[in-house]
Amino acid sequence: MLNQLSRLLVLVTCFSFVACKEYKVKEVKDFRLYVNSEDPELKAAIKELAAQYNQDVGANALTVVSSKDEANSNISFVENLADDGGSKLGLGQWITTEQEKNNFKGYSAEKQVTVYHSMALEFDAANFEGKLKGLKDKTSDEYKHLYHLFCHEVGHGMQLNHSDDKANVMYKSIPDHYSRTIDFKGYFQYVRSYLKISAPVGPSSVLI
Ligand SMILES: [Zn+2]
Repeated sequence: MLNQLSRLLVLVTCFSFVACKEYKVKEVKDFRLYVNSEDPELKAAIKELAAQYNQDVGANALTVVSSKDEANSNISFVENLADDGGSKLGLGQWITTEQEKNNFKGYSAEKQVTVYHSMALEFDAANFEGKLKGLKDKTSDEYKHLYHLFCHEVGHGMQLNHSDDKANVMYKSIPDHYSRTIDFKGYFQYVRSYLKISAPVGPSSVLI
């Protein structure tokens, strides 16, 4: 009898080993951005920059939503934005949250892990507002600065770190005057691979 019981226990142990073998990870990269500002001009500016961003990605990478409830990502404007390193034009952070679930299929179980990606972005209010007039002219330095800054912070939100290459979108400073070419093509190639989007058919509308 005792022998039978121990045999059963051995069987149960083996079974639970097999049962936990399946482990699946699903990634959700659905960025729904809420613009945390009462200023309609700032809200409109982010909408416009996000629309250009989606056009350059060739897919709907960012969705600007009108209520906090629909959002998983946040954009705010901060007076005298600074971190440990001193004053900043913007800060971008990526966020992931995980949910684990066991799916039972008959006698076996599969562990499903869903990873939700989101981001938190901050812009220095005075710098951003000071360049808003550039939105009227996409060839202006102000527009290039705003778009570059936006892409840079969103890049952090998509897990990019700084680059030492001055032509890289992720170089640590954003110019006020554009005398050099910025490699937006390389940047958007990364974004498409990060979002697992195949390259768009038409030419990219990158402005810089
Ligand atoms: Zn940065």
